[in-house]
Amino acid sequence: MNVNQQPHMATPYGQPQPGYQGYPQPGYGGDHVPSGYPAQYAPYNGPGSAYQQGPPQGKGPLPTEALAQAPPHSYYGALPPVQQPFQNAVPTFSSAGPTQPQAPPPVSPQSFPQAPPISQPPFSTAQVHPGPTQSYRGPLPSTQSSFPRPPHPTSQPSAFPAGPPPTSIPSQLPGVMQPQPPVSQPSPYHSGPPTTSTGFPPQVGAPPRPSFPGMQGPPMASQGPPMASQGPPMASQGPPMAQANHILPTQPGMPPGPINASLSGPPPQPGMQGYPPQQNGAFGQVRGPQPGYTGPYPGQPNYGAPPAAPASAPAAPKRLDPDSIPSPIQVIEDDKANKGSEPFTTGVRGQAPPLVTTKFQVKDQGNASPRYIRCTAYNMPCNSDMAKQSQVPLAAVIKPLAPLPPDETPPYLVDHGESGPIRCNRCKAYMCPYMQFIEGGRRFQCGFCNCVTEVPPNYFQHLDHTGKRVDCYDRPELSMGSYDFMTTVDYCKNNKFPQPPAFIFLIDVSYNAVKNGTVGIVCQELKTLLDYLPRENPDVESNIRVGFVTYNKVLHFYNVKASLAQPQMMVVSDVADMFVPLLDGFLVSVSESRVVIESLLDQIPEMFADTRETETVFGPVIQAGLEALKAADCAGKLFVFHSSLPIAEAPGKLKNREDKKLVGTDKEKTLFQPQVSFYNTLAKECVAQGCCVDLFLFPNQYVDVATLGVVPTSTGGSIYKYTYFQAPSDQERFLNDLRRDVQKQVGFDAVMRVRTSTGIRATDFFGAFYMSNTTDVELAGLDCDKTVTVEFRHDDKLSEETGALMQCAVLYTSCSGQRRLRIHNMAVNCCSQLADLYRNCETDTIINFFAKYAYRSVLSSPTKNVRDSLVNQCAQILACYRKNCASPSSAGQLILPECMKLLPVYLNCVLKSDVLQPGADVSLDDRAYLRQLVSTMDVAESHVFFYPHLLPLQKLDVESMALPMAVRDSEERLSRGGVYLLENGLNIFLWVGVSAQQELLQNIFGTPAFSQIDPNMTSLPALDNPFSKRLREIIESVRAQRSRYMKLMVVKQEDKLELIFKHFLVEDKSNSGGASYVDFLCHMHKEIRQLLS
Ligand SMILES: [Zn+2]
Repeated sequence: MNVNQQPHMATPYGQPQPGYQGYPQPGYGGDHVPSGYPAQYAPYNGPGSAYQQGPPQGKGPLPTEALAQAPPHSYYGALPPVQQPFQNAVPTFSSAGPTQPQAPPPVSPQSFPQAPPISQPPFSTAQVHPGPTQSYRGPLPSTQSSFPRPPHPTSQPSAFPAGPPPTSIPSQLPGVMQPQPPVSQPSPYHSGPPTTSTGFPPQVGAPPRPSFPGMQGPPMASQGPPMASQGPPMASQGPPMAQANHILPTQPGMPPGPINASLSGPPPQPGMQGYPPQQNGAFGQVRGPQPGYTGPYPGQPNYGAPPAAPASAPAAPKRLDPDSIPSPIQVIEDDKANKGSEPFTTGVRGQAPPLVTTKFQVKDQGNASPRYIRCTAYNMPCNSDMAKQSQVPLAAVIKPLAPLPPDETPPYLVDHGESGPIRCNRCKAYMCPYMQFIEGGRRFQCGFCNCVTEVPPNYFQHLDHTGKRVDCYDRPELSMGSYDFMTTVDYCKNNKFPQPPAFIFLIDVSYNAVKNGTVGIVCQELKTLLDYLPRENPDVESNIRVGFVTYNKVLHFYNVKASLAQPQMMVVSDVADMFVPLLDGFLVSVSESRVVIESLLDQIPEMFADTRETETVFGPVIQAGLEALKAADCAGKLFVFHSSLPIAEAPGKLKNREDKKLVGTDKEKTLFQPQVSFYNTLAKECVAQGCCVDLFLFPNQYVDVATLGVVPTSTGGSIYKYTYFQAPSDQERFLNDLRRDVQKQVGFDAVMRVRTSTGIRATDFFGAFYMSNTTDVELAGLDCDKTVTVEFRHDDKLSEETGALMQCAVLYTSCSGQRRLRIHNMAVNCCSQLADLYRNCETDTIINFFAKYAYRSVLSSPTKNVRDSLVNQCAQILACYRKNCASPSSAGQLILPECMKLLPVYLNCVLKSDVLQPGADVSLDDRAYLRQLVSTMDVAESHVFFYPHLLPLQKLDVESMALPMAVRDSEERLSRGGVYLLENGLNIFLWVGVSAQQELLQNIFGTPAFSQIDPNMTSLPALDNPFSKRLREIIESVRAQRSRYMKLMVVKQEDKLELIFKHFLVEDKSNSGGASYVDFLCHMHKEIRQLLS
């Protein structure tokens, strides 16, 4: 087990979390950004007076540009579609599992090897305190109780006028797809010498492909000779060398050979610079061959279409023109133009918000902001038959504690006094704009269950002539979509107000961790970082207490009590039954114990500098933190810094089960499942205590992320992964992630419940949490980046008049120890016509749902089945539209609903992602990591993750604050003379064309020579010219929008690193067999036609 096996090029996945907008990277000194959200709410008491608004909750200025993001692309399932779309996948974890033996806690007061300074306290068993096990099992009082649903909704006045239905402009794709026998493609990824000519090999003699699936379209002219790859040879069927989506391969996987085929010389193409404006509804013009098009469906068997007749035809055979199919960039730009200028007001029921790529301001007028809730459909089908027929998933992506930009009002804090928030008697929904006051204001009828409840005397208010309470607009809970409630002791665990939470730092000090520098880096950083613990009021010290543990095969606890001259270490070497050897002095206030803590953090790296211990434990580490929180009777968060597979003898010990041969087999699912059930059981205990675990991994080899990740992903925690961590190049990313993670707004011991109006109910949930019943989402920790995706199904009919209502209530303990409720309300329309459903969907949110669904399904089904199901469901969605909503037209036309015209391109990106269709070089750990990462992403993050944002820097106008318009993620859009920035939320690449203008290079790199550019740089030189300044600003602003810090990688065209970069050009065919966008669209068309015939 050596450290330093692989230099540099750690995988880029260090950074999870869906992109939310506008979180400035915390910096030290200067103006520190207060973390913490709504620092202070203005308390709102009593009716009458207008409420005051609390200080903005934002964490700093929002980046000015909303990034445009494009979609991912293709693959297509080669098999006939499986009829049944998505079976419900297996639940994330089982609760079975061995418990540890309850032996008496042996403590060995072991003296610490080569550890000079710390005075070893006399250790007696008297100090040993296993700690009362306070496992919390009971339901939170009164928050949730099951409620009977009334038989039928009574009709109720609709609170919001329905918005005008958008018009649907069916985009048509005349049957243009022509079979194109592909030409044999020289693989750019050989390890051997490049075979064929680079650049545009004109018709290399390849056997014409039999036929092109999906090609039964209307006969087109020229079924001419295979035109195929006129493009630069693209990914190929060659040895799968490269890179699956989003995962940077680590060095070992790099191909030795030069990569030179691509892009070496295609003449500038029409589509290359920017993109031509595209007309809706005009897909499918045929035009000349495009570079980058490698021919249809390589390797596809004959799909039943007649072989393309070698036509007598024209030299330029027709094929689907990439510029004529729906362009993600065009859709993004159109949305910016149409919706970016006006604030989005939430008062109109059923109104779809602007896309996540559009920068817009939100005004809360009664429904939750799209920053908190985004829905797949804003016009839900009235009944389950319609829903089944359309196959459009009905889901909401909810980010309960999302940060808001500074120009938006954070949720107000509402206090209903000693009796707590006013709620419906039956379903327990909280007071909200959907409650209808009746009988002169003495009672209210619940919008969710229709039950009538008395208004408490102290809440009574008269109604105006329209039936509204006269104080309606003075009360957030009567007029707004989102607000917080103060709670009472009834809302607290064990009917006791909570203690402030604690943060415990658990640092691996084994050989690997010392060697790669993380021990020193973590200790050094914590000395500063501890001053920035979350707090609600930036002027007041944080209430959070801290504790420290180091470990390898044994655990070392530290007493850092303020009264000590030096920290004291206590070693627990019997890890079989973990306990905390000290109570007093383990969790302390930073300000009181500062001197002792600093001394400890200075000494830890020295103490372990010469360690030879290579083995680690992991289960006992989490148990130690959990036991410490139990002993202190508080919730909290563990920050675990870990380096290797825990093979030392201990509970939760793992073995190396890495077996790539299982990929693609029926046993593949086991790779995503934990290898032991120990961690599932442990996770459950953590959730009961409100113990959230954040895991920072620094592996040099397989560490079994699928197993180690169980506790973080069940407790609302995060996983960060820095493979082959090298301090010089990776420290910046790690430190930024750590700073943000420690400072960010977080709630503890949270329970989320989603209530809905009669007719639908929440049936399935996706995210990092635990569920012990079917309705309560339990999150030991819930931070501002985490989302929970909720799927709804009909259990009755909905009415067009009342629409469908949902209320998300999250009960949590704030960082100061207050028990709070965050309420988000959302109303959508209901329709009895399918066309209305298809007019008001949000494709980005549908993709978020599909990705989470599919990524969970791989736990129980072979990836191929999962992909086939996705394709099939998508085809059903589009076929249903075609059959029921589109005007009659030839079967050869592909007709897509306007708001779903990007569904194929984005779905293809999900299908060919590393989790569902990995390249050979994608490690099992990376796949497990990505699977877990995506499960908590919001829509903005999943969007850019699957369809990276690609900016042509040669078009950057330094005079303007605007970014250049993004280009589509395809090699043919890259100009050899340009420099491009690509970002996907986890990585930033700067791609430099071989013929990039000298002035551009001079401005960016300080050298005019392409050959002089150092591909190992991870930051750009700070040059004194406007271009350099603006570019660095853009990079910083892009980073600030993402929840994880993105390391910059410079990729020179034709350099070996380009392989990695090309992996993110998701409209192109991928090395792992994923189809290009064009090919996938053709395939989708064929699937649709099969369903229709
Ligand atoms: Zn109710």
